[in-house]
Amino acid sequence: MKQKGIPVQKNDVLNVHIEDLTHEGAGVAKIEGYALFIPEALPGEEVEVKVIKTNKGYGFAKLVNVITESPNRVEPPCPIFRQCGGCQIQHLSYEAQLVMKQKQVKDVLERIGGIYDVPVHPTLGMEEPWQYRNKSQVPFGEKDGELIAGFYQKRSHNIIDMDSCIIQQEENDLAVQEVKSIAARYGIRAYDEEKHRGTLRHVVVRQGKKTGEMMIVLVTRGKELPNKKNVIDDIRESLPSVTSIVQNVNPKRTNVIFGETTSVLWGEEYIHDYIGDIRFAISARSFYQVNPEQTKVLYDKALEYADLRGHETVIDAYCGIGTISLFLAQKAKKVLGVEIVPEAISDAKQNARINGFDHVDFAVGEAEKVIPWWYAQGVRADVLVVDPPRKGCDAELLETILAMKPERVVYVSCNPATLARDLKVLEAGGYRTKEVQPVDMFPQSTHVECCSLLIRKD
Ligand code: SAH
Repeated sequence: MKQKGIPVQKNDVLNVHIEDLTHEGAGVAKIEGYALFIPEALPGEEVEVKVIKTNKGYGFAKLVNVITESPNRVEPPCPIFRQCGGCQIQHLSYEAQLVMKQKQVKDVLERIGGIYDVPVHPTLGMEEPWQYRNKSQVPFGEKDGELIAGFYQKRSHNIIDMDSCIIQQEENDLAVQEVKSIAARYGIRAYDEEKHRGTLRHVVVRQGKKTGEMMIVLVTRGKELPNKKNVIDDIRESLPSVTSIVQNVNPKRTNVIFGETTSVLWGEEYIHDYIGDIRFAISARSFYQVNPEQTKVLYDKALEYADLRGHETVIDAYCGIGTISLFLAQKAKKVLGVEIVPEAISDAKQNARINGFDHVDFAVGEAEKVIPWWYAQGVRADVLVVDPPRKGCDAELLETILAMKPERVVYVSCNPATLARDLKVLEAGGYRTKEVQPVDMFPQSTHVECCSLLIRKD
């Protein structure tokens, strides 16, 4: 029976027109104003769908048949695209992906931020939008007594074995395969999430794109790693790019990958990479952008928006290992970075030294606590850069920005929704959003990164 106000019911089969794409990559059809979400359907298409579930304000349907195909529809090149949750829009041509991301940013700025008249530029994309990721992190499991490593099936915790991922740098895939066969050779058991038993939880591989240096992180439940010496020897032998083998212990029942303790099993504590001319040391738990080619594009934009002449003091909030800080330090008088992860700050300090910058300082702590404290000590910034995690900036930080009144705020964001929310606050407090530049850091996925410039109205 149909519920009141819902024009369709479960198992209905109907033809619909797709009007839009959600930020999860599902097609949207409207039936008498009621939204139906249809994974894999694309805007402009006429499709036959079967209703799966109806909620009060919206429902879900399954794509049965494409009647009129979008000219932007392409065959997803990855054979496991439909099982894996990693990429959402491989079935959309790359040019259309870039347009979709620009539109998404524009829509969200309007809907959440009430910001209508700001230029949102066309998304800066990649020439070759494949094999771009410098980091692979794969969960380990067992199937029929054999070790498997791959990805979590969409919306589940079932691990599916995988031997290649076409958005990964090729060598990362090979490394995961090698580690899998080495672990099997020495009888290392995978972690069993349900029983909280077993050893190997995740293997994380990270490679410097420019230097080729590779780090292998074995994330284990306890300190124990059976046949440790053989495992290390075999990894070194079969993977000559490896310069660092690290063990991280995560004893908790959690789906967070890393635990608190990290120790070097062999080689260096870091790998190195370059973005532009700046050299970075990166340790296991530090955040480092996963798409180095596009990171350069993003940081160049941040540098352009900062418009530095050489006399400025710059604050870089959420600075990670100091990547943006050091990029800006090339042109600024003084740069102060703040970040919550202590290992990242120790990397940042080392990175300042490696590059010979002595006009850069870093502090460990929450941006929303440290920057107000700096402000109370009399610190003033001409340019303030923020690059927060998905949840955006804390209200206390936004308040301090409004009090400190830097001439320019450069807001780097990986989540348009929180960006819009925060821009609204900054706009109400005396700033004008001058322009927003989406940059495609994550081709084939629906994620979009933006660099925005705000200037003071007075
Ligand atoms: N700008 C860096 C890192 C951006 S990612 C880069 O481009 O590489 C966001 C960073 O914010 C992460 O390093 C995370 O550890 C840090 N972080 C999260 N919450 C924070 C907080 N409240 N205060 C300061 N840093 C925080």
